[in-house]
Amino acid sequence: MTKRKKIFLEEHEMPRQWYNIAADLPGTLNPPLGPDGNPIGPEMLAPVFPMNLIEQEVSSERWIDIPEKVLEMLAIWRPAPLVRAYALEEALGTPARIYYKNESVSPAGSHKPNTAVAQAYYNKEFGIKKLTTETGAGQWGSALSFACSLLGLECKVFMVRVSFDQKPFRKMMMEAWGGTCIPSPSDQTQAGRNVLAEFPDTPGSLGIAISEAIEAAVTDPTGETRYSLGSVLNHVMLHQTIIGLEAKKQLKKINEKLPDVIIGCAGGGSNFAGISFPFIQDKINGAEMEIIAVEPASCPTLTKAPFAYDHGDIAKMTPLLAMNSLGHGFIPPPIHAGGLRYHGMSPLVSHAVKEGLVTPQALHQLECYEAGVIFARSEGIIPAPETNHAIASVIREANKAKEEGKEKVILFNFSGHGLMDLVGYDKYFNGELKDHNLSPEDYEKFTAVLKNHPSPIL
Ligand SMILES: *Cc1c(COP(=O)(O)O)cnc(C)c1O
Repeated sequence: MTKRKKIFLEEHEMPRQWYNIAADLPGTLNPPLGPDGNPIGPEMLAPVFPMNLIEQEVSSERWIDIPEKVLEMLAIWRPAPLVRAYALEEALGTPARIYYKNESVSPAGSHKPNTAVAQAYYNKEFGIKKLTTETGAGQWGSALSFACSLLGLECKVFMVRVSFDQKPFRKMMMEAWGGTCIPSPSDQTQAGRNVLAEFPDTPGSLGIAISEAIEAAVTDPTGETRYSLGSVLNHVMLHQTIIGLEAKKQLKKINEKLPDVIIGCAGGGSNFAGISFPFIQDKINGAEMEIIAVEPASCPTLTKAPFAYDHGDIAKMTPLLAMNSLGHGFIPPPIHAGGLRYHGMSPLVSHAVKEGLVTPQALHQLECYEAGVIFARSEGIIPAPETNHAIASVIREANKAKEEGKEKVILFNFSGHGLMDLVGYDKYFNGELKDHNLSPEDYEKFTAVLKNHPSPIL
């Protein structure tokens, strides 16, 4: 056998530092702002996050050491294989060479444990006993429950109501790892009670669940609880860069050139940042690469929403972040890509788009499910509905390479498997799914709040 399907790294070849793109991005990064419109100091975040993570959040060091204990936990499933998608290439008849990082091999089934183990570690180091968080489709809640179980921390997860009802297996995973999972909005927080009083039948949203989780952390009288966020923030992007750093080493191992195209789906931006940021460093330094962030047309944060200052949650408990945002009160349409329905986007990813380093793309769900099925029937793994967005874009690029007769190298992030998301596939096969655009009326309604906020530097 001469074809090499999977490119592995030895455990000792795992990257020992994360890459911080804040050190290299061109343009001025807009700092988070407090309620008075002035940049916030680290102490204002201290009730919410431990100081060691706040230091990472604001760091401009290019390389940050990964602690030994975190490497040990990552080694449960890392280094993740880089896979050559020969069967997909053949199914498409493309001259492109397609590679993907298989992040579905983690215990929770996605890239999210990469930051979960790091965040749990830094909280534990800081003396914290319990973490609260929110989860949409349940991927993040299960990843954090897993990480907390490794370190003996308590974990409490507020899960968006509609997903809580649709995806009972995610809750069971959290419980298997010792976490607790309650539907949001709940009657356990003021933020939740306020929403329930006004909208008793609400399906919930990530914006609401974040408010509940932050409130539950900052109101714990022992002071030993902190909040943890699974995407969007700078330190989360940082922890995910291990994906792209490994991919670079793996491509080098087989003497493959730098990719021509790099693709990831983008909800809050973390798996996209993970695969792309280490390569964006090369792009900043002159390499030619197209880097595509794919989102659902029903939640078009990067392709339609403005770059503006906005809160990360409905109760405005977070500082104002400079990012692409559909407005913190955004209630997403119930499409199945649960992890891609957030109103905001990582400030670092938003900035990279603004600087022209990243091309955003919005796709409809039927094309994405179709792509996921092609992948499952060629490469074998059933992708998460979020991951299908990346695969649909890969298929477009592979077909373009075929038309142009070009031997392109395409790298994408296989962010997770879809074994807990089969209800979405079932609906797709039964013809129950429709394409959905955010209506101009809803767009106006939800983005109106942004007009009251300060303007970021463009
Ligand atoms: C959560 C999730 C996403 C979206 O979140 P990002 O922070 O944008 O990566 C994508 N894919 C999978 C499998 C997820 O679980």
